Amino acid sequence: MNKLEKHQSLIKEINREKVEKLISDLVKIPSPWFEEEEITNFVDDYLKRIKLEPWLHKVSEQKITKFEGHNVIAEVGNNDGPTVLLNAHMDTVKICSGWKRDPVGAKVEGNKLYGQGALDMKSGLAAAMIAIELLKKIENKLKGKVLFTAVVDEEGPYGLGTDALIRDGITDSCDMAIVTEPAAAFAPKGVNNPCLLIGARGRYLYEIKVRGKSAHGAMPYLGVNALVDASKVILALEKMKLGSHPFLGEGSLCVLKVEGGGETISVPDKSRVLADRHVVVGETEEQVKKDAEEIIEKLNLKSQVEVGFRDAPYPEVKGYGSYITSKDHIMVKEFENSFMELTGQKPVLSSFMSIGDFNYLGDKNRANIPTIIIGADGDNVHSPEEYVDLEDATTITQVLTGGLINLLCP
Ligand SMILES: [Zn+2]
Repeated sequence: MNKLEKHQSLIKEINREKVEKLISDLVKIPSPWFEEEEITNFVDDYLKRIKLEPWLHKVSEQKITKFEGHNVIAEVGNNDGPTVLLNAHMDTVKICSGWKRDPVGAKVEGNKLYGQGALDMKSGLAAAMIAIELLKKIENKLKGKVLFTAVVDEEGPYGLGTDALIRDGITDSCDMAIVTEPAAAFAPKGVNNPCLLIGARGRYLYEIKVRGKSAHGAMPYLGVNALVDASKVILALEKMKLGSHPFLGEGSLCVLKVEGGGETISVPDKSRVLADRHVVVGETEEQVKKDAEEIIEKLNLKSQVEVGFRDAPYPEVKGYGSYITSKDHIMVKEFENSFMELTGQKPVLSSFMSIGDFNYLGDKNRANIPTIIIGADGDNVHSPEEYVDLEDATTITQVLTGGLINLLCP
């Protein structure tokens, strides 16, 4: 008898009704980033009701955002085995315009539950909450521990919730991490559930300052036009050689913004360019900076050009490092087993197309914890009519619970 057969009745407690109810409750609480107080209280109360002893972990950033909020943390298990971090964010993007349905109405139509954050990632938060609820029932059979963290501000500019977990040493005891982001929705085209994402590209945001020399616009040859030089920088960035990786795919670059100039007859003396760069494993912050400096150097511009990154409250959150967890890691194997046993299918191992808290956790230069992403399918992430597929969310909640049982039950 395999481990999951022994706990079949527990897994069977996870049905569509239970999953739908909790996702619905969560969606009905608006929780755009930096406005998470109500949902924090809801999660805290839920954990208390299921006989856990949650605590609120203060997140405070006073340099740039002036944000104060709380992550909710709880533990199930003991110190007789590995500690598994189970991480989900409670916030959503700001409620976007264009919704035909109520964005916090949690309307169910067939298999779809609609709402801002229904997929990203209240479905994943619900899965994690249900998983620890069930593990609590077999706590005395566990050899090891789940550290559940429901975090604030994943969708904001710096991911301050998970950053604070790492900064305050809360993740120091974790041997591996599971983030329940909507994996299938962020996998490369053609990859659907069952899938398990074991890596992600990283991301840096260039801030390039170009300084020329002002002069009367009728005699432009007397000045140095910062806007013209910024344009040359942009064209050079577009041609920059980017990283590539057999598993993570290609790096990418996207110029996001250019500022400078005015409407009087003057040569613009200042310009600022913002460009997004997605990187693959092996491309460090220093290298990313050097890449841009080198191509700009070759342009021999008269302007002074300074390459930097966006302003950030801490150097560690200037960018997101890329990472890959080994396919042979015990957690990957046990989650493959859980998928096989509960769905009859082996999951595709793939990577997350964008960035998130999992980068902070998985990146060798940050928390350096083997990290996987598992989550339900749906569509319209960060846009109107976002929905989660409830059948898939139910299956994923079962597989998540099954994977944790595989990892922690002898
Ligand atoms: Zn998310």
